[in-house]
Amino acid sequence: MASYREISNGQISVRFDAATGSLVSLRNQLTGTELVSEPRLGASFRLLVPLPDYVANYVFGTEQATPMITINDSEAVLHWNGVTSVNGRLDIGVTMRWRLTDAANVTIEVDNRSPHIVEEVWGPIVGGFQGVGDPAKTILLPDDTRDPWRNFRDEAPNWGYPWPCRAIWYPRPMGMQFVELHNGEEGLYISSEDASGQTTCFHLEKQPHTDPCNGWIPPAVASGIHIAVTKHPFVQSGARWVSPNSVIWPHRGDWHAAADRYRAWALTWMKLPSPSDWVRDFTGWQHTIMYTQSDAIHHRFADVPALSDSAKKYDFPCINLVGFHVGGIERGYPDFSPEPRLGGEEGLRAAIDDAHKKGVRVLLFSKNNRAHANTERFKKDLIRLATKDRDGEVIQNHYGYDTLDTRIIHQSRGRYAIMCPAVKEWQDLIIGETIKMAKLGADGTQYDQICSAPVLCYDPTHNHNPGTALAAGNYEFLNRLRAALDAEGLDFVICGEEPWDALYQWVQIGYCRHKGSREESRLRKYTFPETIQTVLIDMYDFDRVNFALMLGYPLDFEIKRWRGSLADASALAAYAQSTNVIRRELAGHLMNGVFRDRLDAEVAGSIEYGVHRATDGSIAVVLMNDQDEPTAARVAATDRPSKGRLYRPGESPIDYRAEQEISVPAHGTAVVVQ
Ligand SMILES: [Zn+2]
Repeated sequence: MASYREISNGQISVRFDAATGSLVSLRNQLTGTELVSEPRLGASFRLLVPLPDYVANYVFGTEQATPMITINDSEAVLHWNGVTSVNGRLDIGVTMRWRLTDAANVTIEVDNRSPHIVEEVWGPIVGGFQGVGDPAKTILLPDDTRDPWRNFRDEAPNWGYPWPCRAIWYPRPMGMQFVELHNGEEGLYISSEDASGQTTCFHLEKQPHTDPCNGWIPPAVASGIHIAVTKHPFVQSGARWVSPNSVIWPHRGDWHAAADRYRAWALTWMKLPSPSDWVRDFTGWQHTIMYTQSDAIHHRFADVPALSDSAKKYDFPCINLVGFHVGGIERGYPDFSPEPRLGGEEGLRAAIDDAHKKGVRVLLFSKNNRAHANTERFKKDLIRLATKDRDGEVIQNHYGYDTLDTRIIHQSRGRYAIMCPAVKEWQDLIIGETIKMAKLGADGTQYDQICSAPVLCYDPTHNHNPGTALAAGNYEFLNRLRAALDAEGLDFVICGEEPWDALYQWVQIGYCRHKGSREESRLRKYTFPETIQTVLIDMYDFDRVNFALMLGYPLDFEIKRWRGSLADASALAAYAQSTNVIRRELAGHLMNGVFRDRLDAEVAGSIEYGVHRATDGSIAVVLMNDQDEPTAARVAATDRPSKGRLYRPGESPIDYRAEQEISVPAHGTAVVVQ
């Protein structure tokens, strides 16, 4: 007969198996919902402690001797004085502290008295999860997977891992440091309260293994998924390390409650600055590739005035020039001098001057963390500053481009070393290149791939912990860059590709695509409405123009697969311009307001919508019809006057009364303000 130790406070109760220390019950006492559906898969922690001849030396919490468990009111402390792996005993102490408030707050401490390095620490681990109540109604965010237990997305690497698993990393493109599971009525939020940006993973694992994943299993077999918070602290021999606080919060409500909690925590340390004047009015950019690694020239600097004209004509007065630099996109990094074949420095300066005379802003594409590894400069010198793997080899990317051969694995026209942002010499080099671009007269740069995380850098000459090189290095670089630009008196706008949340402390415009689940886009906008993120649009993407309006986001025009301009897409451009009139008129709601998602209004009808609240309390409801037939909707804003205004692209706004039926054309939009 198993015995248990339990703590509870009327809101939440957690129960541990006294023999193993595994979490076998996690209960929301306010709703009565049990979140560990399969206690046989209860878990506690894991450690990775590589030995000289055995890298995969995992220590499983479930295979340890009985821990000492101390209960004190609403706190439980579980202590293992030493641990074992398949290779025998390791003199490593592990202490897990569970403290209950409205959530469970969990830390894990590692006291490494062994001669080895504790590279990975997994914990807490919530095992045996099947759903929040009914698994079929349970949704996982960020990716909006329904019934994640039975629709598990297996990303396990070949045969090296015994169970279906996937890793949701932070930092990562557009990442926030939590996962949420909810059923619409209540949820389970798991976060890591860690401002350092060290490599973190929310690791999901399903047991047992079936092939294919999600196959039938006999009823008596224990099945469930675990959610683990993992870190790569590289705890040295003789050192003690305590994890940042993890929050396990069973809550009422759906993902909005989770987003509210995360935002409240994030804003205790994340400082989102106010944007430069012109960025405040930014409605989108025209994004065009000029020159590629395979010598394809799509535009020269002499063609830029025509690009500026099309951007100006359709009221998106900003152009973003890709591959303007020596060698074009995916060549020559980190030299961001203007390419001679396109017209050289003189040609680019003239193009920028022309754009400015027309009131058009010019951004230059660059990369802050890549070097072209095929160059002599890299091979002879810059290689020192590149990230290295466990064996000292350079970590590299390859990109397919114009020719078929580059789509054969690893046969790109180049190799692109991921440079270590924690190395000051590299930071100085990119600061110099950035100031060079600013002095060409450009209004800003877009650091492509600034999102490329997580990477562990093992280069011992860089003098950093492998797990903290990337984000912490980027934060230091961006602070130093801002100081250097300020010292030169340069108002130069930093943009970046798919930034994770904390990067918006420096990045003013996120080059985002929003091609994932719409629910994830809603989550991002709802959590941090003040971040400026673009939505990718090609020449027939009318629905995505409406989607951008629904979210209040600016547009990223990549016409003709990044090669063209709005002049090549006049129908779409004119339509986008007509939505821009609404966007500008309702800037207080759509661009500078608070996104309420589907809250604060009732919308009847088969239609997508988003609700934006301005500081005066009025709300704008953006309706979006992505169907092939017209549809009708009725909109009633909660606690607002029934009289309002109705906006349609290309038409003057008219009076509107709540409950009046609004017809929305196929692939069209309408906006109600009340
Ligand atoms: Zn490094």
